[in-house]
Amino acid sequence: MQIAKTLIIPQNTFARVLLTNAIKHLQIAPAYLFTGSRGTGKTSTARIFAKSLNCLNTKKPTDQPCGICQSCRSIETSNSLDVSEIDAASNNGVDDARALIERSTLAPVAGRYRIFILDECHCLTGNAFNALLKCIEEPPPHVVFILCTTELHKVLPTIVSRCQVFNFRTLSVQAIVQHLGIVADAESISIDEEALTAIARLSDGGLRDALQLLGQVSLLDEDITANHVMEIAGGVTETELMSILQAISTNNTFNLLQVARLLVDSGKTPKLILSNLLQTYRDLLIIKSAPKEQSLLTGCVSYAQLKVLANHWNFETLNLSLAELQKAENYLRYTVNAAVWLEVCLLNLMPSLFPVSATKTLTAKPVHDGKLLPTVGVYTTNKVKCLNSQFWCLSPPM
Ligand SMILES: [Zn+2]
Repeated sequence: MQIAKTLIIPQNTFARVLLTNAIKHLQIAPAYLFTGSRGTGKTSTARIFAKSLNCLNTKKPTDQPCGICQSCRSIETSNSLDVSEIDAASNNGVDDARALIERSTLAPVAGRYRIFILDECHCLTGNAFNALLKCIEEPPPHVVFILCTTELHKVLPTIVSRCQVFNFRTLSVQAIVQHLGIVADAESISIDEEALTAIARLSDGGLRDALQLLGQVSLLDEDITANHVMEIAGGVTETELMSILQAISTNNTFNLLQVARLLVDSGKTPKLILSNLLQTYRDLLIIKSAPKEQSLLTGCVSYAQLKVLANHWNFETLNLSLAELQKAENYLRYTVNAAVWLEVCLLNLMPSLFPVSATKTLTAKPVHDGKLLPTVGVYTTNKVKCLNSQFWCLSPPM
């Protein structure tokens, strides 16, 4: 209950203020439309709003539902007769819409309002939307519709214009870390700040995904670290990334290929490895250009380790490496031998292949059939690059 209440966190301050004031001033709209990415608190907010409207411990709707009355408890357990949560993905036809309209004419059983929460409402068919149109515009006075969607552009404009629209933004890493910290303390989960940050970054701004992962890692019988989180989430750990980066920085071809092979053998896909490396190189570039902006880092390698590593490369080399990784990520979609392509890409990141004198030449992109080709084409004297050039023939349209 406490967790659900805190779901409307700072990013959605406006939604909280507006909904609270609507309840305080009894200006309840007939229809609300909550939109935003998954896991940003739309359905949870809809439930809290329903509790606020129907809480039995006050004489009128309240912005602080008690959470213990029969109405609040039944909404919490999805057993309320007055609050219907409808999955529009599986009830998307015109007949479902008509049944819903029929139910809306019935008076509430215990609470003040009959509330319909339509989850994933963009899945409704055009006919179903049209059938609901009139009812959403002028429902009986005791009815409130709350439509939730992750894809606002799929909802008919005529429906959108009849609803009060609330945009639920994804949460920042700091907001998720803060929230996870509260949950971890309440649940006595032993987890460090770096592990919480790793969870937050993996969840792409969605609190539900973050809480799921926290619940999963909490089953470990030891102090949870960022490496645990990455292992469980199937990501590349900080130690593994550091091994790759150290091998690259010291021109150690054997170690580099060995680490790459071990990672692939342990089930990590080349795409995942490249994507993690891309993020780490992006962080290295940030450290080069803004050494004090620690908060801008998004990868799982710590600031202290990156700062030491960053001394091995200059800005141009990091920039070229990033371009190389990005291209390799694109090519992986078209190649049938991703592991080989990963090795080629990693070898191309070796600093010995990025002589400072050559960086200028690299900016001159060769042209083939009117298309830009990978800039590393100038290194045709190197064996690896010759192999690389074979891929160019198959290079996908950019
Ligand atoms: Zn209550």
